[in-house]
Amino acid sequence: MLESTDRLVEFRKQIDQINLRILDLLCQRGGIVQEIGRIHATHEDQFFHPERETAMLAEIVIHNRGPYSDETIVHLFKEIFKASLHLTEQLRVQQLLSHRSRAGQTQPVQVQDWIVGNGNFTIVAGPCSIESREQFTRVAEALAGQGVRLVRGGAFKPRTSPYAFQGLGEAGLRIAHEVAQQFGLMIVSEIMDPRDRDLFIEYVDVLQIGARNMCNSPLLRAVGETTKPVLLKRGMMSTVEELLLAAEYILLQGNRNVILCERGIRTFEPWTRNTLDLAGVALLKQETYLPVIVDISHSAGRRDIAIPLARAARAVGADGIMVEVHPNPAVARSDNKQQLDLEQFKQLLIALDLMDSASLRAVEVGEASRQAVPA
Ligand code: PEP
Ligand code: MN
Repeated sequence: MLESTDRLVEFRKQIDQINLRILDLLCQRGGIVQEIGRIHATHEDQFFHPERETAMLAEIVIHNRGPYSDETIVHLFKEIFKASLHLTEQLRVQQLLSHRSRAGQTQPVQVQDWIVGNGNFTIVAGPCSIESREQFTRVAEALAGQGVRLVRGGAFKPRTSPYAFQGLGEAGLRIAHEVAQQFGLMIVSEIMDPRDRDLFIEYVDVLQIGARNMCNSPLLRAVGETTKPVLLKRGMMSTVEELLLAAEYILLQGNRNVILCERGIRTFEPWTRNTLDLAGVALLKQETYLPVIVDISHSAGRRDIAIPLARAARAVGADGIMVEVHPNPAVARSDNKQQLDLEQFKQLLIALDLMDSASLRAVEVGEASRQAVPA
């Protein structure tokens, strides 16, 4: 009896030692996997090579002396391979120009005298489309009176149907520019065609890339060649990583003034136009230093939940929201179900404790001059 207890203790000691040797080998293996990952990342190679995995498993099975079955050994090694793939995937994200580790914290984007991402909650508000000088002036005047500085309005509209209102084009941009000057506002407007770039640079303060164009690499490169702030919206069928890769096109050209925008993704849920991915916002804040705003209008497609969505966006760490506001949404020429009227917008500001326009103005010139513009 005593002898078998001694043997048990001895075997357990051996198992403990083997565990540590396996661990040591796993650590060594992981280190080599990371080196391989670094080589792949710089050569823009893919990390996962299924044929290499098959070859490794075949070799391992040949050398299996038992007592574990081949099936068990294959299962165990597949787990090791999976863990390695996870390591290289993390590495791939960490090597992006937008990765948070490069800056440590959110890098603000300066839009004239306004800063997005410096801890203040930015409101980008305005109509879906610029429909007339009168309509845009009415919204702009009301927004300016409430301390909003960034006003949106589409002049080139990405409509699903070619028969729907396409926007006023250049005339719309001119209206936006003149009205913005009148009220001391900055204009955010969507650019769809790289050929319009000079026009937008003249009239607009933030170049918006819409959901439908998130993957349009010539357009991304074209705005990347400018120094204008870019508001990049997530494609309705794009992953968080694909959004970051789209941002990479802009950053690679030298334009570091990129603001990301979550605007909902398509799911099976019919009660909202899209599904607002709040987890995606939290992940973007965790993984990148770029400011992130949430479009509470296009994500929901309805106005009745604007306040809870705006609160949720703020709670999850967003740097601001985009919201569509129209003097008379019922007759809006696009997105009439989701735009807030001026009173509803006021209620939204009250709910967010931003009604005191001083809080929206707090980051004007004084702070702007103290904040470094991201390099
Ligand atoms: C918009 O903001 O005007 C717009 C068309 O939104 P999205 O690109 O997100 O659909
Ligand atoms: Mn719209």
